[in-house]
Amino acid sequence: MKVVNDFLIPARTGKAVVINKGEVLRIIEEEGKQVADVIIFNADDHKEKFDLSHTVRMNCVKGIGNLKRVKELYSQPSRSNIMFTIMEDKVGVHGLITGNKCSIPLYRARDKLNTHANCQDNLSDAIRPYGLTPDDVGDVFNVFMNLEVDERNVPVIKSPVSKKGDYIDMKAEMDCLVAISACPGDTQPTNDYLPKSLRIQALQ
Ligand SMILES: [Zn+2]
Repeated sequence: MKVVNDFLIPARTGKAVVINKGEVLRIIEEEGKQVADVIIFNADDHKEKFDLSHTVRMNCVKGIGNLKRVKELYSQPSRSNIMFTIMEDKVGVHGLITGNKCSIPLYRARDKLNTHANCQDNLSDAIRPYGLTPDDVGDVFNVFMNLEVDERNVPVIKSPVSKKGDYIDMKAEMDCLVAISACPGDTQPTNDYLPKSLRIQALQ
């Protein structure tokens, strides 16, 4: 396959891109230990979108995934279409427990910060040119996020195990609008306390 689109998402920012059916979206650790918060819509019908809990359940039931890695990314159960198939995954450790993205309410509650760059706003800004609003930002696929559950059953954020150059390849099974946020989190180990850039490629 050859690279037909290649761009950098600078640290703390987000961007949207259309990936056509059959193309491969490659999310690359440009610097390493950086989480990508990803939301996906059917490019032709934005009501159809990625559903994290349905994805986890379907992959577990089919024996092709767990709470760290999955093979197929599904839309919500009313459609239940495979939006992307993961072809290669150099890391195999992703955040699939909560589907949460950082937001002002989270920074306020957890870190006592009233302003902070965040994935909710990055993703909202990225999808706005496509006629979508902040309310359309649903649960995310926390690519490269390292989440554990402690003895109290509370999810705990660990530093990513991903290294510079690691990537995940996802083949589009339909034309998809994908928004990606280079998570700006720096108060937790999410991005090893230092937000960094991500490289995005489309391969044909
Ligand atoms: Zn974030």
